[in-house]
Amino acid sequence: MKRYIINGNVCLQSKVKKVDIEINNNVISNIGVNIEKVEGAEIIDAKGLTVIPGIIDFHTHLEEKGQLFNQIDTYSSGSKLAILNGITTINAFIVQNFNQSLAQAITSVAAQAENNTYCDYRWHLTPTRFSDINFSDISRWIDKGFKTFKFYTTYKTANLYLSYDRINEIIRRLKKYEPQIIIHCEDETIMNQMYIKHDFHDLSNYTKIHSEEAELTAIEKIIQLCKSIQTPIHIAHVSSSDAIGQIELAKRDCPITCETTPHYIFLNENRLQKDNKAHYFLTPPLRSEECRNYMEIKTSMGYPEILCSNHKAYSDDIYKSFVNDYRSMPSGMPSLGVLFPLFYDLLVKKHEWDLPKLMKKLSFNPANMAQIYPKKGTIAVGSDADLVIFDPNGKPRTVTSSLAKQYNAWSDFTTNVEIKEVLLRGTTVVKNGKLVNEDKRIGQALCDTNI
Ligand SMILES: [Zn+2]
Repeated sequence: MKRYIINGNVCLQSKVKKVDIEINNNVISNIGVNIEKVEGAEIIDAKGLTVIPGIIDFHTHLEEKGQLFNQIDTYSSGSKLAILNGITTINAFIVQNFNQSLAQAITSVAAQAENNTYCDYRWHLTPTRFSDINFSDISRWIDKGFKTFKFYTTYKTANLYLSYDRINEIIRRLKKYEPQIIIHCEDETIMNQMYIKHDFHDLSNYTKIHSEEAELTAIEKIIQLCKSIQTPIHIAHVSSSDAIGQIELAKRDCPITCETTPHYIFLNENRLQKDNKAHYFLTPPLRSEECRNYMEIKTSMGYPEILCSNHKAYSDDIYKSFVNDYRSMPSGMPSLGVLFPLFYDLLVKKHEWDLPKLMKKLSFNPANMAQIYPKKGTIAVGSDADLVIFDPNGKPRTVTSSLAKQYNAWSDFTTNVEIKEVLLRGTTVVKNGKLVNEDKRIGQALCDTNI
């Protein structure tokens, strides 16, 4: 059956225009001024409201099992908060544990997500074994849509660390499959040198270990590697403007890109002095106010290609047990509900961006990089009807960071962005800011998870 959205200010690829959108089953079937409507079809009146393509969060951690602690946001609670805030696709992570084959890792995470997720989803893959046998396994999964890989220059204890030489070798072997590589950049050697000197009772020491220098050094090494291999590399969650500057320069010579997250734009390290400091513990860590300010400037100049949440939530009880030693405390902050409202307020309202420019960072670029464009990431004929109807000047509300938490790390931020309706593949799943049906978890996997 056909449905129409009329009278809305619709965010197309390069401009906002008052047009009608026709939806036929799951996809957008027509866009135009006063398009002819089939009699008896359902009409959604978006008068006075804005219509954008569903947001694609490029970096979401849900329900990952760590060696010591499990993340508290499930596919269900995380995707619920996502869809309530206009995110219609998430890119989560599958990490191969030491005792698993890649197939086992994929099957077990796919089972967590299946029939349990309110928005569509796909994954970045982190294989941790690289023998010839494992490489043939990796190539099989690439054919099933797992074309984005995340690697780490740190985290030895979590079995994630890879040396620069190893990363170089792996990317060269993967290159023929045209993958998108994502790298967490912090230099292990620099951090180890700092590690020995510090008192582990004081959380603010953490920012000295995970320093801007450690991040920048790793990024510079990865840039060199990107220049020599010429395969697309994306630097995850960049936290300092110097790093963004280096990446920007390198773009002349190689296909390097980066993302940043709300943490480094809206928060600074002063949070690590307060009573609830453990809630603001992440890697790379929050930086000085000066650094935050430069990050806001560089972001408002449009440098990072992607704005994403890097959502990661742990139970408050975990943090309470770390008052005397923070070394094995899990890092990360819940932030799915923050992504769209706060970046809209900052970049469109404060820095006067036009809306297509923001949606490029939140929908188009992440869809492109995840290799799901034009199915996702745009309002165009033939694309999935993932649509968000919102009022930029709605009722003020506090942003919500997680639905599985006992705390809200973003409780001092408010927004007027009011989500009125969200459509996922043509079906209305959110109406007036609420789920239409709590039991209907219609999210689908965008990778083939069958062995
Ligand atoms: Zn992350």
